[in-house]
Amino acid sequence: MDIIVMRPGATSKDLRNIVKKLEHKGFKATISKGTERTVIGVIGDTSKVTEEESSSFETMQGVEKIHRIIKPYKLASKDFKPEQTKIKIGKNIIGGKKLHIIAGPCAVENMSTFLKIAQEVKHAGATFIRGGAYKPRTSPYSFQGLGEKGLEFLAEASKITGLPVVTEIMDPRDIDVILKYADVIQIGARNMQNFRLLQEVGSYSKPIVLKRGLSATLKELLMAAEYIMAQGRNNKVILCERGIRTFETETRNTLDINAVPVLKKLTHLPVIVDPSHGTGKWNLVAPMAKAAIAAGADGLMIEVHTNPQEALSDGEQSLKPKKFKILMRELKAVAKAVGREM
Ligand code: PEP
Ligand code: MN
Repeated sequence: MDIIVMRPGATSKDLRNIVKKLEHKGFKATISKGTERTVIGVIGDTSKVTEEESSSFETMQGVEKIHRIIKPYKLASKDFKPEQTKIKIGKNIIGGKKLHIIAGPCAVENMSTFLKIAQEVKHAGATFIRGGAYKPRTSPYSFQGLGEKGLEFLAEASKITGLPVVTEIMDPRDIDVILKYADVIQIGARNMQNFRLLQEVGSYSKPIVLKRGLSATLKELLMAAEYIMAQGRNNKVILCERGIRTFETETRNTLDINAVPVLKKLTHLPVIVDPSHGTGKWNLVAPMAKAAIAAGADGLMIEVHTNPQEALSDGEQSLKPKKFKILMRELKAVAKAVGREM
């Protein structure tokens, strides 16, 4: 709430009331009277002014609009930190010149399948493995994940391949067990606004992949990142565009490629794209993965399965290792064209 623009017909009493309210809140007002309208500049630390407080000014007599200069997400904004955030995980740096590809099945199903997939994606050039042990399924009768056993398999495969693991947390009560096994904690789309969960993961320094909610705006995504960062212990947040709900029915979701350059403009946090959930169809994964890299993403999350037909979840959007390998090769050229490395 840094600039208050008055309506053309605003009276000096309207102006006085606003100045009084600002001063009451500890701010100073500088008034600039133009030929047509008056503008009030608010001086002081406005970063703690809530949206509610800001709109309480907006509804005052004589006010036309309010321009907030400091965005509601402060720690996540470029106003606060202009330089790009680089997140170091093992020997990998996310947010630097090198792109990172997180690949693996939707869910960890058993040790041998998971290890086979992990080895295949590593061989193709993936730098992280993924797999869910706690799955957010639409139906309570669908496979819910192996729980801690799944985490053990992830950690075992990580030890064998040397790749760090990304896995989803669904419940703050699982934090200790997840911290024990995961290198990166994923907050899924369905939990993007689970504020207690965001605060919980914000209390530790473990890096986070924060997925965009199914119908969340980019501002809401950034506010969710702010929830994590506002705990004061964790600024290692990687934003993930994973498609949003639209009226289109040909695809599972509509992958919002706009999100990449928009987020890059608004935030210093790394941005990755998940074309698997973004499209829901394996044959759309490669073109959208390329589009994401071309648009400036810092990495990708891709679902891969050795036997998609038999996968316990998201088989229809999973690439077979062979297709994944071809895609990785093709992505190198796109990366190079936009000044990135793979
Ligand atoms: C997943 O990564 O398997 C997943 C459930 O993703 P999302 O939360 O984006 O749907
Ligand atoms: Mn999935």
